[in-house]
Amino acid sequence: MGREDRVEFLQPTSWADALAVKAERPEALPIAGGTDVMVELNFDVRRPAALLDLTRVPELAEWSRDEGWVRLGAGVSYTRLIDELAGPLPGLAVAARTVGSPQIRNRGTVGGNLGAASPAGDCHPPLLATGAVIEVASVRGRRTIPADGFYTGVKRNALEPDELIAAVLIPAAAGPQQFSKIGTRNAMVIAVASFAVALDPGRKTVGTGIGSAAPTPRRAVAAEAFLAGALDEAGLWESRGDLPEGVVTEFGALAAAAASPVDDVRGTAAYRRHGLAVMARRTLTWAWHSYQGEADRGEVG
Ligand SMILES: Cc1cc2nc3c(=O)[nH]c(=O)nc-3n(C[C@H](O)[C@H](O)[C@H](O)COP(=O)(O)OP(=O)(O)OC[C@H]3O[C@@H](n4cnc5c(N)ncnc54)[C@H](O)[C@@H]3O)c2cc1C
Repeated sequence: MGREDRVEFLQPTSWADALAVKAERPEALPIAGGTDVMVELNFDVRRPAALLDLTRVPELAEWSRDEGWVRLGAGVSYTRLIDELAGPLPGLAVAARTVGSPQIRNRGTVGGNLGAASPAGDCHPPLLATGAVIEVASVRGRRTIPADGFYTGVKRNALEPDELIAAVLIPAAAGPQQFSKIGTRNAMVIAVASFAVALDPGRKTVGTGIGSAAPTPRRAVAAEAFLAGALDEAGLWESRGDLPEGVVTEFGALAAAAASPVDDVRGTAAYRRHGLAVMARRTLTWAWHSYQGEADRGEVG
């Protein structure tokens, strides 16, 4: 191996040091669980001059709760998210359960999913649907970016070269949340398309997120506005009555219309649009049933 082939391995042990290293060596590629990075290195897709290992930075592996928000450190694994945070973050937990295999969920992180910013990443739809905010930092300071503005292109995000993802701030669920993904098999599968929905009956709002059906993950804004309006007009937030079939169908149609899918090896654009309409109808129906079920079980506040 020639000198030019060597990869330097930088291993800070505190957040301050990690930011200092990134400022000094902006070309260093961060590595957390390595479940994306190592695949790229193995296939020679990337040949970074340096890797910036974040696994020894204790601050990244922490989460906390404060005034209705969960602050999820970028280095918290999917397994811990599922075990420790499924209560306040049900939509993200459903998505996390569909990621890879137990081995991938033990290593992989939400921060890594955001760093990779693949349109097919499973965290993105629930982060969009819940109005999550990404906390990023550099030696210059800290800033927050709404998930809605974080994805800037295919596998591109809003990070500056000297910035790292510190955490994701996610509102604790105020109502039912759901996620669905279609792929070519049931497990260990990259989404052909995915959809998340989050209902907030207190605020009478609806959130959505679409994955793998546009250059970036995105919300279905018209579907959100339509459903919130239809539920309000019919007094359904209060009555928890059955959803009219026409409302469910229109929600599905608007969700599908919000996508800009392409034909590729995993599926056709037409299949993705069809799948999105089906997933939007299903996730809404599941979420609504659980909202109705809360009333039946006397869990209404
Ligand atoms: C077999 C297999 C199955 C998979 N299945 C799925 C799946 O079902 N769904 C899915 O969404 N993904 C899947 N993936 C992809 C991968 O597991 C996820 O994207 C995971 O979330 C990546 O997390 P990580 O910690 O391993 O990231 P890493 O590989 O360490 O990093 C990923 C990217 O994020 C950057 N990064 C990491 N941490 C930070 C940080 N704090 N600040 C700035 N940049 C950072 C890295 O530089 C890199 O660009 C799979 C991968 C494999 C190998």
